[in-house]
Amino acid sequence: MTARQTDDLYVRYMEAFSASSEHTTNCPACQAGESCVQGEPIHERFARFQDAYNERQSKRQR
Ligand SMILES: [Zn+2]
Repeated sequence: MTARQTDDLYVRYMEAFSASSEHTTNCPACQAGESCVQGEPIHERFARFQDAYNERQSKRQR
């Protein structure tokens, strides 16, 4: 049996999600779907983790 690993990717994904949604809550530009200079890297980071996480999930299901 393998030891249960700390699910680092999931933790980072959730952190990026919180950061992204928190920024959007306080940013009219991002609420309108126009990424601002400050928000762009935050949303980009979230998108990268989302992709990585979804990719891993789909691999696991096979
Ligand atoms: Zn913004």
